[in-house]
Amino acid sequence: MNGSTPKTAAVIGGGIVGICTALSLQERGLTVTLMDPNGPAEAASYGNAGVISTWSCIPQSMPGLWKSVPKWLLDPEGPVALRWSYLPQLLPWLVRFFAAGQRSRIPAIADAMLALHRPTVDMYRQHLAGTGHEDLVRDSMYVYAYRDPEKANLDGYEWQLRKERGTPLERIDAATLRDVEPAISDDYKAAILIKGQGRALDPGKIGKVLFEKFQSRRGVFSQTKVVGLKPLDGGRVQVETTDSIHDFDRAILSAGPWSAQILKGHGLTVPLESERGYHIIFTDPGVTVNNSIMVTDSKFVASSMNMGLRCAGTAEFAGLDHPPDYRRAHILAGPAKRLLPGLNTEAREVWMGQRPSFPDNLPMIGAVPGLPGVIAAFGHGHLGLTAAPMTGRIAAGLAIGETPNMKMAPYAVGRFSGNVHP
Ligand SMILES: Cc1cc2nc3c(=O)[nH]c(=O)nc-3n(C[C@H](O)[C@H](O)[C@H](O)COP(=O)(O)OP(=O)(O)OC[C@H]3O[C@@H](n4cnc5c(N)ncnc54)[C@H](O)[C@@H]3O)c2cc1C
Repeated sequence: MNGSTPKTAAVIGGGIVGICTALSLQERGLTVTLMDPNGPAEAASYGNAGVISTWSCIPQSMPGLWKSVPKWLLDPEGPVALRWSYLPQLLPWLVRFFAAGQRSRIPAIADAMLALHRPTVDMYRQHLAGTGHEDLVRDSMYVYAYRDPEKANLDGYEWQLRKERGTPLERIDAATLRDVEPAISDDYKAAILIKGQGRALDPGKIGKVLFEKFQSRRGVFSQTKVVGLKPLDGGRVQVETTDSIHDFDRAILSAGPWSAQILKGHGLTVPLESERGYHIIFTDPGVTVNNSIMVTDSKFVASSMNMGLRCAGTAEFAGLDHPPDYRRAHILAGPAKRLLPGLNTEAREVWMGQRPSFPDNLPMIGAVPGLPGVIAAFGHGHLGLTAAPMTGRIAAGLAIGETPNMKMAPYAVGRFSGNVHP
């Protein structure tokens, strides 16, 4: 990027990625305007499972996954759902998704995931320090709970990948699982613990608290929808919204799954899919869990939060604008009760959110071809809460012309069109 030292930046999209980016830009001395038609952290960043997944390095698309998909689609309690009339639109994304799951591609994807995730707990603690809400992030393990003890096998490919990258793992038997998580049913006979993680006691509140910190540092919030971006001389950018036009030295695009729509207006197509997920909160649960629990047979996460016991997960492909199907959330009550026999499932709240997902499980972070001065920071799929602080740090560095001290090609905006900017 060219031009003099940037002093102003627009951050487009006030989810957790935009909020963390805005804070990092402020740390670099920029005056920041955050733009969002809604309030801060009210989309996916509000309702996720709260796993601050330091060691996460396993992409969604793994070798042989396709064999499980038909079974999942036919099972009403299965982790994947599809609106069949949406299939023709989804097909090109699916082809890329399964291509990304080839064994030869996995190690590089795993490394790129880990580079964004490793520092996350410390970075959240730094962001939250002094806000009075430091307790919103708690040290945690990620407990992968299994009914079938044979499946808790550290020799499996996924666990090998983790071990090779230094993940602190322990396989435990049923008795130790009872000690770690007394509320879990005896039907669960083994677990694998991923140690050294964090968990959010209220992901949406973390977003709101960090947003307040941003405002207290003279950050400006503009409740408006961005409709266009125009490059100006010297890497400056004109940002057009539904009610105004303003010029900034730089613009960061962090509008989650809506980022693709903004780029499309500029002739840029990126394979970003809305991978819809649901949660159900049992507001009077009667039981608590001490860690993030991955219920491996149903593939959702259970976590005790400030508002109750939240079970979150499922992947539904139906497009960005299709109305939610809250049966997908209520359905989690069955396996949740089987996991936690003492759970009171009467009082509940349900929610749907959209993960911004690329086929290779990695976000886009970096320069946008054809739009100098605009920096991409979107597409974090299942792990945006985890990757937000590091993404914000990288994006802020790029905004002031720094070269990141890490390989950026895996996150390049042009990687699906062969136009890679390392
Ligand atoms: C069920 C579920 C469970 C999950 N569990 C976890 C987990 O345990 N751990 C984890 O790390 N991640 C998890 N995730 C993923 C995580 O929630 C997302 O990756 C993350 O919230 C994405 O953040 P974001 O800021 O990119 O997008 P969002 O939170 O979607 O924010 C995007 C913002 O952009 C705004 N916007 C849209 N259009 C415009 C426009 N034109 N102009 C300006 N602003 C615009 C929107 O209003 C919105 O506020 C989960 C997701 C789901 C759905």
